Amino acid sequence: MSPGKPDVALVRCDSYDRGLVEESVGRTFELLGGVGAVVGEGESVFVKVNALLPVGPERAATTHPEVVRAVIRQIQTVTGDITIGDSPGGPFNRAFLKRVYEKAGFADVAAETGASLGFDTSVVEVALPGGAARKSIALCRAMVDADRLISVSKFKTHVFMRLTGAIKNVFGVVPGMTKFTYHSTFHQDTDFADLLVDVLLAVSPDLHLVDAVWGMEGDGAVWGDPRKIGVVAAGRDAFALDTLLADLVDLDPRVNLPLDAAVRRGLCSGDPGGINVTGDDPGALKVYGFRLPTKKSAIVLLPAFFMRRYSTLMSLRPYPVRGRCTACGKCAEICPGGAIRMKEGIAVVDHRHCINCFCCHELCEHDGIELKLPPLARLLTR
Ligand code: SF4
Ligand code: SF4
Repeated sequence: MSPGKPDVALVRCDSYDRGLVEESVGRTFELLGGVGAVVGEGESVFVKVNALLPVGPERAATTHPEVVRAVIRQIQTVTGDITIGDSPGGPFNRAFLKRVYEKAGFADVAAETGASLGFDTSVVEVALPGGAARKSIALCRAMVDADRLISVSKFKTHVFMRLTGAIKNVFGVVPGMTKFTYHSTFHQDTDFADLLVDVLLAVSPDLHLVDAVWGMEGDGAVWGDPRKIGVVAAGRDAFALDTLLADLVDLDPRVNLPLDAAVRRGLCSGDPGGINVTGDDPGALKVYGFRLPTKKSAIVLLPAFFMRRYSTLMSLRPYPVRGRCTACGKCAEICPGGAIRMKEGIAVVDHRHCINCFCCHELCEHDGIELKLPPLARLLTR
């Protein structure tokens, strides 16, 4: 925290009413010194949204288009060279990008504001200085090459990383399916969290704005339950933002595993009391009873030696759901463990090859995968 300079601008925003969102987002920029403090005249700006899947804004899995629209309107006061985009969790090609942008509402925002949509699928190898997980990584060229990168994320739960916001959104600079290969390489949650921090440090967006008007609780990041939080928050420091937002929903910030990794590495304190907040009073905006994913909720109570020996028998597992699974085969295409095949009109998971990345759960557009504890774990954790 630098004395006198706010780490986070926090502004109440009770709904996605256009006028209200414009006012709230405008205020966050003002509180941080205006859009000119982030973007220079005529510079190119990539607005990196959360466009994980082709699902509508009502799911609360993607950044709400009204928030993106309001951010674009702010940036347009200094430059017209703006691209809205992401690398969704699926094939990194024009057809899939178009589908996601249309369904999530970003295509309409682009059409209305005149901003471009990001369809450049070229990649560039970027060094990860001091990387705990890797020394270099392939990233989306368009996001890396823009003069300014602004991350506009969604505050939500995540069955693997528990709670996510500003830090995790930046992992979307990793192109399409490459994200899944990292899930298999870094299948321990702490290793994967380290990788997210490495990518954040390498890319270092010029600004993070988090859409927490409606967030997601429960088993996110796609099929959890929408939950009103009622704020937008922005700042340059992703660690400070995620710390404040976790505290806002009355949780220990270190349940956000990427943030926990940053604290372990001495990159931040994870202490909400150390954050310099400007704008509305966080104490008056507190949300209680926010539900984390069920993963490990009871299992963590078991002794370490038991977990080391029997962890594969005790973890939450993916189970396809008859009636919802359409046997489209997409989860089998992306499964890093090669654990899924189609049989008699439904996906079937071979749990011996499953690495518990939960990508199938995250990416199924039909909510066709449920995460459940296996019978032994259910017995022991009752
Ligand atoms: S679980 Fe989902 S992604 Fe997998 S085959 Fe069924 S419908 Fe397709
Ligand atoms: S079955 Fe699902 S959770 Fe298991 S490795 Fe494949 S994608 Fe990951």
